[in-house]
Order: sequence, then structure tokens, then C-alpha cells
Amino acid sequence: MLALITHPACLEHRNPPGHPETPERLEAVVARLEDGLVAGGAAVRLEAPRARRDDLLRVHTAAHLERLEALDRAGGGVLDPDTSMGPGSLEAALRAAGAAVLGVERALAGGGPAFCAVRPPGHHATPSRAMGFCLLGNAAIAARAAVERLGAPRALIVDWDVHHGNGTADAVRAEPRIRYVSLHQWPYYPGTGAEDDTGAGNLFHVPRGPGLPRERYVADLLAAVDRALDGFAPAVVVFSSGFDALGGDPLGGFTLEPEDFAALTRAIHGRAPEAALVSVLEGGYDPPRLAEAAWRHAEALATATG
Ligand SMILES: [Zn+2]
Repeated sequence: MLALITHPACLEHRNPPGHPETPERLEAVVARLEDGLVAGGAAVRLEAPRARRDDLLRVHTAAHLERLEALDRAGGGVLDPDTSMGPGSLEAALRAAGAAVLGVERALAGGGPAFCAVRPPGHHATPSRAMGFCLLGNAAIAARAAVERLGAPRALIVDWDVHHGNGTADAVRAEPRIRYVSLHQWPYYPGTGAEDDTGAGNLFHVPRGPGLPRERYVADLLAAVDRALDGFAPAVVVFSSGFDALGGDPLGGFTLEPEDFAALTRAIHGRAPEAALVSVLEGGYDPPRLAEAAWRHAEALATATG
């Protein structure tokens, strides 16, 4: 059965007033998934644990973790122009990363797919620094735990957030057991993710301009997934699931609709039917649209079997 993995602490990370990455985003997602899946018995809600330090250290430097801990002890502070911490931020980040790892542990053990409704998001956090609203690289931490601790021979990360996951790419670019596919707006923040940046042959970047027909984004992402799956059978697919690729998102120029995320989920499951499926929330800044798309995606995860 699908697990909805979340934690109330993820609501206690507070950005400065006017910042688009708000607790209301997560409240909207959790409420929609509770109503649409948990209440009807199609999903079970689980509490996210704190991530283990050894799992964090597979992706992040000790100096990065110590900096977050020092700011936490100081009650918060600014990490980059759009990334900051308050009194609840470190706890939120540890629960977010822990949710992703729990999802992978449970899914690899045959417990079923998972959607991790968490914040802060993770895919911009590099091994050595926080940036772009992100403190810890949740998806990368989960994927590296999968292959380095949990016995998965291979893992695929699919990142459909409108921004390139520069942190995820940096965390896995020297790890050929993990392949990373990212569709992202180009040129755009954070400026990375060029098509010819292929890492160790394990990065599959799909940079695209804004305003294209939505079918084009879907087709181009699936074509990259096909290339990534050529000769590569992942034990787990980790979706780095940003919904700021929706048409009308205040931070993106893509044109996807909520049902496209259900179609993508089914199409990717169909291409890797043996793989466990775990999704981790990234961006998405129009809460009603975000919640609708997250529900469509999670419902498709819930009905994926095998
Ligand atoms: Zn984003």
C-alpha cells in the first residue's frame, strides 16, 4: 500500500515573509492526500523519522552539517540569498531527509510505494552548501542509502521540478550505480544542467525553454528516461517531485497540467515495472495546483503494482 510519509515538524520551517516556499504548500498537499487517499484506505500515513547521520554523510560534508547545526543552535540565520533557517528548520530538514530514506527502506522491503510530503525541498542542496530553499539533499540521500546501505544494485532518480537539481546531480555524478534524469527550464535558475553535462555517463539532462506544448515536455522527459534505462534496471525509482513545472506556477514557465504527472508516473512505472517507487516533494508554489498535481501523482503511485 502507498505510504504518505510526513511529519508536523516540516511545517515549522519558516522562511521570511513573502518567500514562496511556505508551510501552506505542505498543508495543502497533506490535506489533499489525506482526503483523497488515506481516508478511503488507499494509503497509510507514516511519521517521518530523523535521518541517520551516516546517511546524511553519504551526500554531505561534515562541515555542511556542522554549519546547519551551528545556525540551529543560534536560533537561525541566512545561508544564501533565498535560503535561511529558523528555530524549527533543522528538525524539518532532518525529518524530510528521513522520510525519503524511510520510503526507500520500506519500498525495497516490499512494503509498497511512498510519497514523502515534506519540506524544505532538497534538490538544490549541494554536498557542501545549502541553496535554493534547500538544506539537505533528500532525494540524493535516499538514493545513495539505497545503493550503499540497503543493497539496491541500481537506483534511478527522475526530477521533474522546473529547476535543475544541481545538488542531486553533484551528489551522484561520480556514482554510476545511480542515474539522474532531469527535465528543467533553460536558461534558468540555478544555471546548471546543460545537456552535455553527463557526469560519469549517469546524468541525463533535458534543458528546455518555457512555454512549449505540454506534450513536448512529457515526451522529452520520457525519451530521456528511456535512454537512462538502456541496460540499467533500477531496484528503485526516486521521483524528485517538483510541481513548479505546472502551467501558471509563479516560479516556472512550463505548461504541464496535474494529469500529466499521473501519466508520467504510470509511464515510468511501465518502463521499470520491477522497481520500487518513492517520491519526494520538491517545489510547486501555487498551493491548490500543487495539491491537485501531487494527488494525481500519488494516486498513480498507489495503483502501481509490482
Ligand atoms: Zn523548483
